[in-house]
Amino acid sequence: MRRDAWVLRREIVEAARRLDSQGLLPGPSGNLSARLSAEEVLVVPSGVPKGRLQPEELLVVSLEGEVLKGMRGLKPTSELPMHLEVYRRRPDVEAVVHAHPAAAVALTVAGISLSEPILPEAVLLLGEVPTTRYATPSTPENQAAIVEWIADHNVVLLARHGSLTVGRTVAEAAMRLEVLEHTAKTLLWAYMAGKPSPLSPEAVAKLQAVRESYGK
Ligand SMILES: [Zn+2]
Repeated sequence: MRRDAWVLRREIVEAARRLDSQGLLPGPSGNLSARLSAEEVLVVPSGVPKGRLQPEELLVVSLEGEVLKGMRGLKPTSELPMHLEVYRRRPDVEAVVHAHPAAAVALTVAGISLSEPILPEAVLLLGEVPTTRYATPSTPENQAAIVEWIADHNVVLLARHGSLTVGRTVAEAAMRLEVLEHTAKTLLWAYMAGKPSPLSPEAVAKLQAVRESYGK
């Protein structure tokens, strides 16, 4: 079913402004997309600061990356192949957000994994957060790096580069980015204060039961 293109354009612009206001999309970094229909995806243009994005600047592309509709002079984000890889592999995903959240990326630079269950909110809202091997940004290497993780994770960290969060709506994918960065900041403080201990297996099992009760 084709979604209302203008409603979806406004949802993407609204999410981009909200994320930008929190410092999660500095400069031209970061990109958002959403599934418009079974064959079409709406995606942000390359090089445009996302906090000043206008709904009409979004491009419509096919799942193969062909531009179907877009303003003259605008090209899709260079990370489009990574977004399309997600849509091809996850029929349940309606939106994808890629960003460079500073605290989360800092943890990958320091070699600290976010896959350990330490904070209950992260277990509930993010699930396990794997980190990919290093891949050159804006190249097909990124697309290849996420392949082994994205089928069964909603949040993936790209080593030394950024985050990939997906959701059933644009707001959910954006929310996961916000929670990811908040979790990373909390963990950074915990590491500064001492050595954080993981949740017990019993505590994790209870959280996973809660998570399954409201569907992923
Ligand atoms: Zn990036």
